[in-house]
Amino acid sequence: VTMNAPTDVVVAGGGIGGLANAFALASAGFTVQVLERAPEFAEVGAGLQMAPNATRVLAEWGLLDEVLAAGVRPRRLLFKDALDGSELTHLALDEDFTGRYHAPYVVIHRSDLLEILARACERAGVEMVPGCEVHDVVDGPDAAVVRSSLGRHRARLVLVADGLHSRLRARFSDDEPVCSGYVAYRGAVPVERLGRALDPETSSDVVVHVGPGCHLVQYPLRRGEIYNTVAVFRSPAHERGEEDWGGPEELDAAFAWCSPDVREGLTSLWRDRRWPMYDRLPIDNWTDGRVVLTGDAAHPMLQYLAQGACQAIEDAYHLTAELTAAGWSRWAEALKRYEAERTARTAWIQETARTWGDIWHVDGVGRLLRNELFRRRDPRDYTYIDEFYAVRS
Ligand code: FAD
Repeated sequence: VTMNAPTDVVVAGGGIGGLANAFALASAGFTVQVLERAPEFAEVGAGLQMAPNATRVLAEWGLLDEVLAAGVRPRRLLFKDALDGSELTHLALDEDFTGRYHAPYVVIHRSDLLEILARACERAGVEMVPGCEVHDVVDGPDAAVVRSSLGRHRARLVLVADGLHSRLRARFSDDEPVCSGYVAYRGAVPVERLGRALDPETSSDVVVHVGPGCHLVQYPLRRGEIYNTVAVFRSPAHERGEEDWGGPEELDAAFAWCSPDVREGLTSLWRDRRWPMYDRLPIDNWTDGRVVLTGDAAHPMLQYLAQGACQAIEDAYHLTAELTAAGWSRWAEALKRYEAERTARTAWIQETARTWGDIWHVDGVGRLLRNELFRRRDPRDYTYIDEFYAVRS
């Protein structure tokens, strides 16, 4: 693909972050091209939780109805102790919650969300280029040139959205993904194949079972037709420094002491695939000339707060707002404002995600204290939750 006039924005990577940005920019009138390495725009994995800080943006973009039609609005976010099965605390995701944050909590299949975003991009006139691997970017005075497996793409701005293992992040930092030593298994099965009836009281809850060095999350997807499970544990083989770690035998051992509900949950997992969990340390430089970072390429985080994709959607909202307000004559200032606005918030969320994981995974007296604090919490206490979900000026 060789072009004479530069595209306004070339987006490198067509995951949830890349497509959210592409859609927002194209809707604001920019010409946008998305280069995606995979042969099609698709997502592996299962469920995705979308908190109101993201669904509020989807509503503003006119996409929330489609997301709600494909997803589920869970009733509660319920925490249980993974060992004894007792309830610890919950967050009601009801009308009070939705009123407070001006948007609902939604869970959706990743591939459904990606499809909704891809269709929206097409409607908005984004040029979608699958099967296109980005190699590098050469910046210049009038345009940047993206070099890919399909040729050269000229752009006034290049948005780097190539995820956790980002190649283009090397321009900004020589850091590497940091392995947490934890690994995730996922599974999504039709409800009728669960082999048991779901308890109607809790069947639409997001249930998080927190245990020593392990946790299990379950919630329904696709209008309740599918049940989604994620199991995460610390690998002893990783701690011993072994190359091959986190295998299915470690999965079973990690949850052996857990409640019957949790052990039952393991039967819904795909055992032939697993996701070792990485993040990176925050960096505060996201812009270099015409090149700018977004999504996991900018701020990969451990998934305990379920905010990675939500933050990519926030990025898209703010970047488009800044570029639109500034206009082309002041694009460099717009990028700097985006960077200032987004780096502080996402760094805080990256760090908090690690701490939140530590709180989930404690054992011994730490676990007893956590459970006691969780049990005493008023379900309507939004002290910490506002920081993530509330409307910010
Ligand atoms: P990615 O999804 O990684 O997309 C990057 C894209 O770039 C890919 O399509 C890739 O093929 C492409 N690419 C890579 N290199 C190149 C190249 N050189 N050229 C062209 N294309 C390239 N977040 C939430 O908000 N809620 C949740 O509930 C949640 N749960 C999670 C559970 C687990 C187990 C995990 C691991 C993560 C979870 N996350 C969640 C985080 C979320 O999945 C990510 O933050 C989000 O998918 C990041 O999107 P992205 O587009 O930035 O990156």
